[in-house]
Amino acid sequence: MINTLNTTFLTNDKVYSERGESQINSLKASYLTVRMFSELGKLDAIPSWEIVQFIKNYRDLNGGFSGDIYSVYSVVKTLTFLSPTHTSSKLVTYRLLTYVTLILTLVSLGFLFVIRGKVQKIKQTALERKAQTDRLTGLHNREFLEQRYVNYQSGKAHIALLLLDVDHFKSINDNYGHLAGDEVLIELAKLLSDNIRKTDTLARWGGEEFAVLCPATDPEHANIFAEKLRSMVASHSFSKPETITCSIGLSCSHHNEPLKSLFARADKALYESKNSGRNKVTYL
Ligand code: GH3
Ligand code: MG
Ligand code: MG
Repeated sequence: MINTLNTTFLTNDKVYSERGESQINSLKASYLTVRMFSELGKLDAIPSWEIVQFIKNYRDLNGGFSGDIYSVYSVVKTLTFLSPTHTSSKLVTYRLLTYVTLILTLVSLGFLFVIRGKVQKIKQTALERKAQTDRLTGLHNREFLEQRYVNYQSGKAHIALLLLDVDHFKSINDNYGHLAGDEVLIELAKLLSDNIRKTDTLARWGGEEFAVLCPATDPEHANIFAEKLRSMVASHSFSKPETITCSIGLSCSHHNEPLKSLFARADKALYESKNSGRNKVTYL
């Protein structure tokens, strides 16, 4: 059938009906319809009279063919092109590349997002640490110790506070220079931090004063610990001058006592140590 139509369509431009009308459009429509069924693989499955019926249905009232038959043919062509069996390998490659690029982009974005978050966290931690660290000695500062006190307060046990002040520090600066005075503070900071418990918190309270917070420490043990620190400083060999002494004021917290009040007693105790000859520990 397709051969007949092909031959007719290709070789015989002018086919006339019995009434003498040109049948070229009817032939074109028939040709397209048969091609369509052929491409759908249905030409053998559908009886030819049904195909004839199909062509007839596309005729308008005057027996001509509208553009619909061309539209149907175009849709069939497009669907055939898009069907998986006809998809070109190039198209598959392009699709694959698109998916791979998309996945790689998403993974990279996720990776960058995680890295950015981590860098920000590191920066933030560094800033926080800097804000809570004493520049000269590298010890914690007063702000850090205040924060720690709140953490230690969760239990009912005593918290001991030691205020340690270098005796006659001004004369060290006067006799050996300010830099030597700085060096004494650095050496003292190291000596103290090497001799406290891991759970204690040591801070430079300001100038030549240091503070140690000891959680879960009752007055008896706090006194023993303060005395140990005092004698250790007095017997330690510093660079310049070789020997220094310190006075210590000690207090132990009552239940839920604010740091301000604990500090006031330790400060008073320190004052008494100074007044009673220095190189002493006083508990209040
Ligand atoms: P006291 O036994 O009564 O404590 O006498 P003191 O001389 O130790 O105390 P005073 O308060 O009279 O002097 C403390 C000195 O510490 C004065 C100040 O210049 C010095 N000072 C404070 N901070 C620093 C520092 O960071 N480095 C040095 N080198 N000196 C400091
Ligand atoms: Mg002082
Ligand atoms: Mg002093």
